[in-house]
Amino acid sequence: MYVFGPVPSRRLGQSLGIDPLRFKTCNYNCVYCQLGRTRRYTTQRQDFVPRDAVVTQVEAALQRLGAGQVDYVTFVGQGEPLLYASLGWLIRAVKSATSLPVAVITNGSLLSEAEVRAEVLPADVVIPTLDAADATLYRRINRPHPSLRLESLLQGLHEFRREYGGRLWIEVMLVAGLNDSDEHLGRLGEMLRSLSPDAIQINVPIRPPAEPWVQIPDEGRIRAALDAFGKRAESIAPYRGAVSTPAGGDLAESILDIIQRHPIPEDDLYEALAGYGHERVAAALARLQQEGQARRREYLGRVFWTCAEAMAA
Ligand code: SF4
Repeated sequence: MYVFGPVPSRRLGQSLGIDPLRFKTCNYNCVYCQLGRTRRYTTQRQDFVPRDAVVTQVEAALQRLGAGQVDYVTFVGQGEPLLYASLGWLIRAVKSATSLPVAVITNGSLLSEAEVRAEVLPADVVIPTLDAADATLYRRINRPHPSLRLESLLQGLHEFRREYGGRLWIEVMLVAGLNDSDEHLGRLGEMLRSLSPDAIQINVPIRPPAEPWVQIPDEGRIRAALDAFGKRAESIAPYRGAVSTPAGGDLAESILDIIQRHPIPEDDLYEALAGYGHERVAAALARLQQEGQARRREYLGRVFWTCAEAMAA
């Protein structure tokens, strides 16, 4: 499936996800990535899946879901969506299929290319990431493909801000002991303000990360980041809400579709799927575990369900 959800999102309400990638395709290999280490480490844009099939699934999902069930249609998935060569075509196709706003969640690295920026312009919201104020930290946190440079990322973000009339929200993932010192937050704050984003969203690795040594910063560090980044900064707290599954669809497949993109705490999963009954959800999870498709993993004192491929990375 190339379409999943809607899944609850603090920033985007109920978000219908579009994922035109194969697991896990990225030009970064972030230490905090919830999908595990990068499998397909590439900067080559291509159509990883047939674009017509993606649009067919989006149209079917929009038909199935009633008014008010979706707030945003969001390009996000098992890697970096800007690597999809026909992304511009897909965004335009989705815009002509629905009046719902379209969001793109990206690491931003390919916005250094003029044609990629042009493809993303029709989106209503673009959410790139900027975690590091210097090249050394950029390499330590995001572990970008060797051909990528922090200067190009920054230049691309500046160009995009000039060209783009929609909402630009920049996300910063804070990792304890890596990018949360006062000194670094001050430098990053200057960079962020120079980009004039509509919002700066501070996130923390709340889901099992690619590297087990990754730690969440404490509240004090988040407050320090809020101070350093200025009045447009906000902290994105974890959000609990309903997880939708296709009516009459296979529950295990639907759960797998979601945890492939976002590992979910076990208690949240049971709560969100309470309508299916505890036993049915437990049976679906047991089946996924038995088939080697999903695994339980403890992180920060909670049990998460994650897809087995992410764990094997
Ligand atoms: S967090 Fe995003 S940009 Fe970083 S490796 Fe994972 S998919 Fe790629």
